[in-house]
Amino acid sequence: MSSIFSKIIKGEIPSYKIVEDDNYFAFLDINPNAKGHTLCIPKVEVDRIFDLDEEVYMGLMQFSRKVAVAIEKTIPCNRVGLSVIGLEVPHAHVHLIPIESMDDMRFISKVKMTKEEFEDLAEAIRSNL
Ligand code: AMP
Repeated sequence: MSSIFSKIIKGEIPSYKIVEDDNYFAFLDINPNAKGHTLCIPKVEVDRIFDLDEEVYMGLMQFSRKVAVAIEKTIPCNRVGLSVIGLEVPHAHVHLIPIESMDDMRFISKVKMTKEEFEDLAEAIRSNL
């Protein structure tokens, strides 16, 4: 069965897409730690990030870096934190989170956003790529 993220890639489930290329896809996390919390995923469906082919893994990091730079241009923050967890969705993904302090990386406090806010933010990050 396809992962929820594979369904997002195929457009079967909606997402607040920022950008995609042949191999990778970036979209806003639906339950963000902070405004701008973004997920970068490989299109190939592999659960654990370190099980990715080295080439796909390196490409994911390159892709994530480009997206992180655009997030930093868009969201006032101390920096963009990067985290890999994967306990909820078994499809490798990189969390990019604009942070002010360590607490923003703890996945405890969450930010509520409207559909319009998500759409505007995805567009703003896209425009800074
Ligand atoms: P984890 O697998 O523990 O790294 O967490 C999965 C992340 O995916 C969580 O931060 C969720 O909020 C996020 N997530 C789950 N479903 C969706 C979705 N349909 N669209 C965007 N983000 C999602």
